[in-house]
Amino acid sequence: MSSWKLIRLKISIHIFPGNEKVILLYFCTESPSPTETYSEDDVIFNRILKVNKDSSKYLQEGDIVPQRSRSAINCRHCIWPQSSDGIVRVPYVLDPTYEESHIKGIHEAMAEFETLTCINFVKRKTERDYLSIKSADGCWSNYGKVGGGQTVSVMKGGCMWKGIIQHELDHALGFLHEHSRSDRDNHVKIMWEYISPSDRPDFRKFENSNNLGLPYDYASVMHYGPYTFTNTTGKATIVPIPDESVQIGQRQGLSNLDVAKINKLYNCSCCSTILDAPSGSLRSANHPRNYSDNTNCVWLIRTRSRKISLHFQAFELQRTRGCQGDYVKIYDGSIKSSAVLMDKTCGSKIPNDVVSSSNLMLVEFVTDGADTASGFQATFTSGRSENKENGKEKRSVSNQPSPSQRKNIV
Ligand SMILES: [Zn+2]
Repeated sequence: MSSWKLIRLKISIHIFPGNEKVILLYFCTESPSPTETYSEDDVIFNRILKVNKDSSKYLQEGDIVPQRSRSAINCRHCIWPQSSDGIVRVPYVLDPTYEESHIKGIHEAMAEFETLTCINFVKRKTERDYLSIKSADGCWSNYGKVGGGQTVSVMKGGCMWKGIIQHELDHALGFLHEHSRSDRDNHVKIMWEYISPSDRPDFRKFENSNNLGLPYDYASVMHYGPYTFTNTTGKATIVPIPDESVQIGQRQGLSNLDVAKINKLYNCSCCSTILDAPSGSLRSANHPRNYSDNTNCVWLIRTRSRKISLHFQAFELQRTRGCQGDYVKIYDGSIKSSAVLMDKTCGSKIPNDVVSSSNLMLVEFVTDGADTASGFQATFTSGRSENKENGKEKRSVSNQPSPSQRKNIV
């Protein structure tokens, strides 16, 4: 994995009404790793295509291994089996040539599935069907489970980004590119005139796709970018309708609807929400009325590049010794193995503000079978930039409906 850092210095002069000259310096460092965000013009799928340009592998839609079944999402045996405990365990083996940093990046991308869905990627023991995650030539995958050991290619260097790894793993779980959905023509216009004939099959529509009764998702990690496969510089191949300004193709990883779709396809009884706006709020179910027993909910707060500050406005949880009953716990990252920012907390004292060290924070709320209370309400804001441009907000990459309205996804 690359560890370079880019330092950019930009000087601009603004003349204000008082004829005062101000020099603004923007100082920017970037260090690409699987857990960081992309630069402005580098949506996930375009990165995949850039890498796959040199691949000798014959691929459909840019990163799909051709197979007979053309719509795995509608194919029962292409779905990974669910254990009686509700967990879908997907066995995998990793390329022995991966270095520690590659393995860490892949594990982090996998752990987000585990945090937000009932999919658990587990090291293969003797299972017949499994993913063989290799640094082959490019970033590519099959649709769904194909039987035996199936390759997911995550090439060192080019594919080692959290969003790309999650994109390819999502294919292996049975998900299509979002704009291949049967109802895509209601949401995007394909600009065929800017797509070369040889690339047109990559924009085919799956008439029988299983859309799971969930909305079209412009912000899906499975969506092409607007200029993907264009044959004319500056001309988009996919235009959102009716609002052309809606952004498509993103760079941060699974979207809220990607998570909802996994949970629906795989019958996960998970309570998880991604909050990807610069600020927002979260609260326990029913607040200020009492929360339910035996729940386990997570909120993944993910800003584009800034630290997150969480402020509790109300807090009333069953008090138990060591907070072993009901509790809120907060992690400095997106997964439960991240460092703990606030350990299990219960009772009625409002906790201090919590600040993350990066653009990711995970809030966990667990309740047991005894006693309930009114729960909690908190707000979050994105603070000062850690490693991106100071004082300059990058443009939004998400056009999701307010994620704070999406709770208790099952
Ligand atoms: Zn793909």
